[in-house]
Amino acid sequence: MKMRAILLSLGTAALLTGCQNMDQNGLLSSGAEAYQAYSLSDAQVKTLSDEACKEQDSKASLAPANSTYTQRLNKIASALGDNINGQPVNYKVYVTKDVNAFAMANGCIRVYSGLMDMMNDNEVEAVIGHEMGHVALGHVKRGMQVALGTNALRVAAASAGGVLGNLSQSQLGALGEKLVNAQFSQRQEAEADDYSYDLLRKRGINPSGLVTSFEKLAKQDAGRQSSMFDDHPASEARAQHIRDRMKADGLQPPAAQ
Ligand SMILES: [Zn+2]
Repeated sequence: MKMRAILLSLGTAALLTGCQNMDQNGLLSSGAEAYQAYSLSDAQVKTLSDEACKEQDSKASLAPANSTYTQRLNKIASALGDNINGQPVNYKVYVTKDVNAFAMANGCIRVYSGLMDMMNDNEVEAVIGHEMGHVALGHVKRGMQVALGTNALRVAAASAGGVLGNLSQSQLGALGEKLVNAQFSQRQEAEADDYSYDLLRKRGINPSGLVTSFEKLAKQDAGRQSSMFDDHPASEARAQHIRDRMKADGLQPPAAQ
């Protein structure tokens, strides 16, 4: 998410950045390779995610290990568990005013300090659980396949002779941006919400944070420009869905803000 993290808001133009000299014939003639790039294996997705995560880290301001942010995130991480469907996770804080968080298929989880500033631990757990859901449910992998399958990145990847051969730094950066700012369908968002709810319950964490984090994000979006709203539409309905689930489970939903 940057809670936006999860937002694929970059358009095709941005993805073409590294490929402006690519000619149309090249694009059209590489159909076979393109298909290969589009149907990535889990191993390829992991490799590409490793690279994209490293690239994002290199551009970010990472919170030091002894910082309050990192210590707080470590505590949150231990509450959530150390893996997504068996994939070990790796948490870091990006120090920035932006409000976002994202998870990649290789277990790379990044939380922005701007999000940690506006949310309590319970809410951050809910948000990360949601992001983990996008990975666990295959949304992130699908997003990567779409990114590689719909534009020049695909050609660059395919023509490197085996898929992920040699994406240039800028191509990798563009792919990383796609992942960091992924936009999912409303259905995927709802599925990730349910995943987070189930995860929180399983880990003995109060799911109230799901409701209140939505409400905070919605309020923030009303107050200033943010792309979070793009990816997390219908936040009222989503909050209500979680309230309903809590009631069905005999839990007291949080009071309306
Ligand atoms: Zn989402």
